[in-house]
Amino acid sequence: MKNAVTPGVAALDRAADKRRDVSFLEQQLDQAETLFVPFLRGQPFVRGSELALLTRRETGDLIDQATEMVWLGLLAGRACFALDLGPGAERHAALSGSQPSDLRMQLAQLPSAQLELALYGRALFLWHARHSFCSVCGQPSRPRQGGHTRVCSSSSCASEHFPRTDPCVLVLVCDGPDRCLIARSQGWPAGMYSALAGFVEPGETLEQAVAREVLEEVGVEVGAMRYVMSQPWPFPASLMLGYIADARTLELRVDSHELEAARWVTREQLRDPQQHGFFVPRPAALAGQLLAAFVAGTLLPPSA
Ligand SMILES: [Zn+2]
Repeated sequence: MKNAVTPGVAALDRAADKRRDVSFLEQQLDQAETLFVPFLRGQPFVRGSELALLTRRETGDLIDQATEMVWLGLLAGRACFALDLGPGAERHAALSGSQPSDLRMQLAQLPSAQLELALYGRALFLWHARHSFCSVCGQPSRPRQGGHTRVCSSSSCASEHFPRTDPCVLVLVCDGPDRCLIARSQGWPAGMYSALAGFVEPGETLEQAVAREVLEEVGVEVGAMRYVMSQPWPFPASLMLGYIADARTLELRVDSHELEAARWVTREQLRDPQQHGFFVPRPAALAGQLLAAFVAGTLLPPSA
């Protein structure tokens, strides 16, 4: 099989048709089986290696301390809301034994359905936190549709605003089936290398962004490329689109504004990176997943 990297199936039914149904949402808020996912300023509460999911009874009056609440949808038929809490809420009894956590650190630990809830809630809360005012007229905006849009409070403007997602390409550049290109940015942990990545610019196709980023960052021209899979990366609002591409040239000219170093490595070296003085992201991250599949021989470049 040419591409054995398989994207996950969504565990959550986003139930978008319920977003406008205010009475349905209000009803769900009082159901015993409804689940709440607490966050503190966009960081999900984690207990051990799981999200601190709360039932309505466990939530108690914590719900009154929410600065934002969004409708996530139905998880195995149970209504699910995310709560963004204000400072001090972490001392509430409902959250004892849990703490707000950096989601990047939790990527590998959380069960996949919980990771989906955490990424979704965080992306929405970060968007709300940065869009309190209408970008058309500057008046305050208010959340609507279960927290999935914001509407300007000025009746003469009434602009509607939607959460945005910024596409970002991540590309594993290959020299045949045995060598690929890894690079590191300034400020990364010592020895850490990953695939190349960059934001898609206005008016650009994904393929153009892949070719431009690789040429800008390391001076390598790419030929054929293939989309592999994606990963939401809400820091604050990216969607990483993973590609694998053939290198047409091999000489590296590293742009020191963007990168600290880049190198070609063999599959053999990637099998035991520490022995060769580097390490790569774990498979929980998209780059780690592409690299692991490349090492395993289940992800081949277009020319192979
Ligand atoms: Zn406005």
